[in-house]
Amino acid sequence: MTDSLAENLACIECGAVYPLTYRLECDACRGLLELRYDIAGLRAAGPGLFAGSGLWRYAPVLPIADPAHRVTLGEGGTPLLDCPRLARELGVRRLLLKYDGANPTGTVKDRSSATAVAAALRFGYGATSVVSSGNAGSSIAAYSSRAGLRSLIFAYERASAPKLLHMAATTANLIVYKGVYDDLIKIWDRLVEERLFFDCGASRNPYKQEGKKTLAYEIAEQTGWAVPDVVVAPVAVGETFIATARGFREMREAGWIARAPQMVAAQATRANAVARAFRDGGAITPLKIGYTVAEGLAAGDPGKKGEWVLRLLRDGKGLAGDAEDDEILETQRRLARVEGVWAGPTGVATLAVLTRLLAHKQLDREQTICAIISETGLKTEGEPPSRAGIAFDFDSLRRLVAERLA
Ligand SMILES: [Zn+2]
Repeated sequence: MTDSLAENLACIECGAVYPLTYRLECDACRGLLELRYDIAGLRAAGPGLFAGSGLWRYAPVLPIADPAHRVTLGEGGTPLLDCPRLARELGVRRLLLKYDGANPTGTVKDRSSATAVAAALRFGYGATSVVSSGNAGSSIAAYSSRAGLRSLIFAYERASAPKLLHMAATTANLIVYKGVYDDLIKIWDRLVEERLFFDCGASRNPYKQEGKKTLAYEIAEQTGWAVPDVVVAPVAVGETFIATARGFREMREAGWIARAPQMVAAQATRANAVARAFRDGGAITPLKIGYTVAEGLAAGDPGKKGEWVLRLLRDGKGLAGDAEDDEILETQRRLARVEGVWAGPTGVATLAVLTRLLAHKQLDREQTICAIISETGLKTEGEPPSRAGIAFDFDSLRRLVAERLA
């Protein structure tokens, strides 16, 4: 019944190996765990191993062996957009955008929600829970409903109205919490130990993180296995970054790609604990953060995952950067105007950081650079344009059209 090549869980700190059970950290050293696969099997099979469409096309490199557990809303298979006009504006040879706002709930989180909820089914849980700035909440709620599981969603009080609406629609248990993500996540993470629900948080669950690895596999397939030189990924706690980096690593180990891209970690300046540590060459100092328009990046204490991101950056000759809220909002408008892609502030933070790194000559302009755009703009809250309407007759309409399109 299995076509999954997942073999075991391994501790990223001490290398201890565990069977594929529901386990969140290493017994020996409390290190984080990652899934390991039969790389020789991957090498022998080649990419012809993949069949079907969407996220579960990559089932051989995901840890859900039983097809009956593979919950789906049609996630994955998102476009990789070649953006020549924006590339010219930014002065880079080739710019690719992996537009993950095209997922069913409008966010990259659908990839990890699919594998998280599938794992909840696999391990026999009846309920899920997550602490969220908005996107993860509606995504986990939607996938839980789809799988017939209950969900308990904790949502940031400053989440945008469309995100709150979406969460309220998809779960029967929406709880709005006071303060920022960091305030609640520590005690919620402790409660996970009591196993009252399946952990759908970003801090530890290796099965959840795994779904986002498909970003790397899709980018590789969509570029004909000639992967971009650079991939810019968002970092809040670090799930998307770590999973994407590991997908490329697996493909390189399997001999499917010649080299892995340089990974760039993108943060909002108001929540830049990882980028700051990278710049200073030291350890991560948790930040007490306030609001950032990039709601999904509002984590000031990324914990062990943040350390993991930092290690990947340092070992892999990566790069980290951040962007101010006004740069992020300007990038959001620019992307919509120049390429027609309407993405949310959290989603365009990567592009804002890339813009800054290019301006500061920290990246080679002759490269092919791919930025992950992690969310749709359709859940952005903002002032709509004036609703003062104009009444037309034929002549006034004709005059306006002629004027505007002159
Ligand atoms: Zn360990």
